[in-house]
Amino acid sequence: MDYLHQEIKGKWADLHVHTTASDGSMSPKELVRQAKAIGLGAIAITDHDTTDGVQEALEEGQSMGLLVIPAVEVSVNLDDGRSFHLLGYGIEVQNSPISELLKRTKDNRRKRNELILDKLQDLGVRIMDEDLIQMHPTAQIGRPHIALALVRKGYVSSIEEAFKRYLGYGAPAYAPKQRCSYKEAIDAIIASGGVPVMAHPHKWIYRSRGELEEVLENLADYGLMGTEVACPDMESGFREFLLKTSARLNLIPTGGTDFHGITKPEIKLGFGKGTLRVPVQWVTGLLNAIKHVRRKLRPKDL
Ligand code: AMP
Ligand code: ZN
Ligand code: FE
Ligand code: FE
Repeated sequence: MDYLHQEIKGKWADLHVHTTASDGSMSPKELVRQAKAIGLGAIAITDHDTTDGVQEALEEGQSMGLLVIPAVEVSVNLDDGRSFHLLGYGIEVQNSPISELLKRTKDNRRKRNELILDKLQDLGVRIMDEDLIQMHPTAQIGRPHIALALVRKGYVSSIEEAFKRYLGYGAPAYAPKQRCSYKEAIDAIIASGGVPVMAHPHKWIYRSRGELEEVLENLADYGLMGTEVACPDMESGFREFLLKTSARLNLIPTGGTDFHGITKPEIKLGFGKGTLRVPVQWVTGLLNAIKHVRRKLRPKDL
């Protein structure tokens, strides 16, 4: 059975989780099982720049009776050079425009990782490729893997310290990520049958709420279809503002924990720091949006 028509058994969902396919510490299968065990009705697999974890999660979801939505998280640039994270929900993962885009991103990531390891070496810190693959042999390697290797080899005592001293923006081994434009990413997501959604808007840099509202309006005009409004560490006033703005711009509300497991130990699957709740009604809204995109695509495009 197709996930778009699967029954949702539960009251809450988590529409933003990472697996071992990127920088999460739990396999897709383990995640689905844990989500089921804590009573969630639906999850979406939103790995950075890869959909390699999707198939395993979909299969486990079918057999456990948990709705699993295939998705991805990509970093994109605005025209002025600032960046944000874009989620694509319901994308076709095989031979689709988004899989082409992700192939390019993977290459860029590999080059960036080499640059970071070179910079570390110049600082007298020896991290080899072999040190980075403890979590999963085919994982999409990112800074959290490097951070974990720094902890395990005793260079720092926590992931937080690894980012502060070496890997974070402005730190000596920092290397910028190559990003695609928001237009390219929105186009690829929609052309792959998916729904583009802005991730954790409270986490990127904007000068005022008015400016964020303007950016969201421009993005909605281009094709953005939703925004996260339930995230850990989002203040309630900001959440109210986003709910109001998304209703005005006809953007669907989504939300999730950005669960990573051991690299972000304070975040629990489904409930973030304890108080987060993503109602399954939002999942229904998201599924309707996915169906809407798919109906508009001609059959030969999917
Ligand atoms: P990358 O995609 O390789 O740039 O890595 C981004 C990932 O690093 C995201 O999942 C972030 O949540 C994580 N990250 C960024 N800063 C920190 C930090 N200070 N502590 C822990 N994780 C971080
Ligand atoms: Zn991550
Ligand atoms: Fe993100
Ligand atoms: Fe994320």
